[in-house]
Amino acid sequence: MPDHHSTFADLGLKPVVVHALRRSGVESPFPIQAAVVQDALAGSDILGRAPTGSGKTLAFGLPLLQRLSGGSSRPSRPRSVILAPTRELALQIEKALDEAALAFGVRVAAVVGGVPVRRQAERLARGVDVVVATPGRLDDLAARGFVDLSSVTISVVDEADRMADLGFLPQVVSVLDRTDSTGQRMLFSATLDGDVDDLIRRYLRSPVTHTVDVLPIAERTARHHFFRVVGSEKESVVASIASRDGRTMLFVRTKFAVDRLTESLRSVGVNAAGLHGDKTQANRIRTLASFEAGHVPVLVATDVMARGIHVDSVSVVVHVDPPADAKEYTHRAGRTARAGASGVVVTLATESQVPAAVEVATAAGIDAHFVAVTENDPVLVSVVGARRPPGRPVTDPFSATATGTSTAAPGRSRPGRTPGSSRASRRGVAGRRSGRR
Ligand code: ADP
Ligand code: MG
Repeated sequence: MPDHHSTFADLGLKPVVVHALRRSGVESPFPIQAAVVQDALAGSDILGRAPTGSGKTLAFGLPLLQRLSGGSSRPSRPRSVILAPTRELALQIEKALDEAALAFGVRVAAVVGGVPVRRQAERLARGVDVVVATPGRLDDLAARGFVDLSSVTISVVDEADRMADLGFLPQVVSVLDRTDSTGQRMLFSATLDGDVDDLIRRYLRSPVTHTVDVLPIAERTARHHFFRVVGSEKESVVASIASRDGRTMLFVRTKFAVDRLTESLRSVGVNAAGLHGDKTQANRIRTLASFEAGHVPVLVATDVMARGIHVDSVSVVVHVDPPADAKEYTHRAGRTARAGASGVVVTLATESQVPAAVEVATAAGIDAHFVAVTENDPVLVSVVGARRPPGRPVTDPFSATATGTSTAAPGRSRPGRTPGSSRASRRGVAGRRSGRR
């Protein structure tokens, strides 16, 4: 059993990938990685429970890639499937595994909804070793004969609890049933209960269980602040926080609230963009790319959409609507102070919301002391750098990205081409990746 001083090489990973990791700034394994990698390399079924931000992607991804390296997949017959609950997460997993996959010569492609089926089918026909997919789209492709999953010998279900929350378990089951029943299976989740338990019982054979408990968030460098506001001032308090320098994520409860708050911020000059499930795939990819590139500094999102999104250096997370429970607090807060960076998590509540908000924070292991603030409060200035909004309305969500080059037209089917977002444009949209190897 590796201790926490072990290196990736000690865990059994090949030098070629250890070097690739080092080049991308990943030097030593996080606890969940130190716990999982050896067993996963040995081919055991794995059950991993660890909170958001703990490093699960590489924990399952590195062993998976190493096990597949050296072999090859026949057209439309991948050897591995990684299931993620949302398109964004699938794309982020694909991206997170990019360097390692390249090092191993393993071909990874994302297969997500919102991209033309024919294009994905063509990509699969050219040969893909690992499919990173949302369950609905992959199941659909399989049912229509565009992909044959019977050669899949390593399956991963990531964020299983969120899959259950979103009602995707039937598609997860259908996909797993199409894979080789003697293959290796790994399931990861922040929590293990209810429907997730059923999935585990049905698909994992004497799994090695690894739990990394206590939320890194309580230990992490994030600072947590709790502000009581009067209802009539909440909007201007939010606007002053959103006017700060740096990347800010604002969480609200509903899609409607995302649109409303985004509009209201833009009307006072804050360049904010909204992310929720009713946006088109192209729009969501573009929004994320702009946020990631820093062109749009403020992202307004619902929980579902924001889960697991990895944008580095989000310095402030604001619970504009208080979180419903500790899990939600943690997931939202997990967007900041990632991988050792510092960050501030702000909870806003009106007087009547305070007791519930205290309870939620306490359950998440955070001491909540609410401080009353008014708009233009110096406390907000010192804690998050709040300032008066610019005032002049921002019209086009992506206008700030226009730097002389033409931006992708709305609705264009090749998103991720925001100028300045070289990573996004280099990668293009999922399913189009080819020619890199
Ligand atoms: P989870 O899936 O558990 O929420 P991720 O796998 O997305 O977490 O990793 C969270 C963040 O930590 C990512 O930004 C990732 O690049 C970074 N990370 C993961 N493992 C390491 C490591 N060993 N060293 C440094 N950063 C890491
Ligand atoms: Mg993850």
